[in-house]
Amino acid sequence: MILIKNKSFKYFLIQKISIIILLILLVFFMPSCKSQLPAKDKYEFMRTQMVKEQIVARGIGDKKVIETMLKVPRHLFLNKDQWDHAYDDSPLPIGNGQTISQPYIVALMTENLKLSGNEKVLEIGTGSGYQAAILAEIVKDVYTVEIITSLYEGAKSKLLQYPNVMISNHDGYYGWEEFAPFDRIIVTAAPDHIPQPLVAQLKDGGIMIIPVGPPGWNQILWKVTKENGNIITEKITDVLFVPLTRETK
Ligand code: SAH
Repeated sequence: MILIKNKSFKYFLIQKISIIILLILLVFFMPSCKSQLPAKDKYEFMRTQMVKEQIVARGIGDKKVIETMLKVPRHLFLNKDQWDHAYDDSPLPIGNGQTISQPYIVALMTENLKLSGNEKVLEIGTGSGYQAAILAEIVKDVYTVEIITSLYEGAKSKLLQYPNVMISNHDGYYGWEEFAPFDRIIVTAAPDHIPQPLVAQLKDGGIMIIPVGPPGWNQILWKVTKENGNIITEKITDVLFVPLTRETK
């Protein structure tokens, strides 16, 4: 009896120890599995995690936004030294003191534009070109404006693959008069008030998403709707954007 008991205890111990060893192996080797994936799969893996954990888990439900953020390779809009951080839950530097927005903010702003696919959208603040690429995947025409020439040049070459994107190097405070009016406007740098030219270039029934406030923490992301010439503003959330700078003439 005692012998049998000991034997089964031995098996019990061996079984437990093997489970513990297996768990230790998993914990240590799982992260390195990711870095051993071919580069393409590695970023795809990181992108899928980003969408799952930062976008869907936080309540973004628009199918088009989710599909597009799964598809567009965010890392390709950054310098190579940033690629391994491209899918982090944060904004990242893109040069000239500017940043690419946090993935969740890109998703939140795009979802709030309520896009069906036929829209003509104006973006102020091209930066890396990532937000413009997200829009280009969803809508008919994208017009994007960047004030810093070197960022404009960089984004222009990255956006060549999207024939439905037009890009200009000027002060976006004035919108883009030549192609106005727009169904939607998205502003990705914060002015201290809503620029009147942008309101004027928004179509009736159109939506503008814009952060407003001083540089620092006290900015609010607004959804501005134009209905029968009237402007309705709704707060979306508190945000932190780089300031909308002005061209010195
Ligand atoms: N949408 C960008 C975010 C870039 S950050 C992306 O996906 O990467 C905001 C950008 O707005 C910066 O590149 C900054 O240079 C630009 N910007 C600031 N003031 C501007 C202005 N008055 N007109 C056009 N662009 C402006």
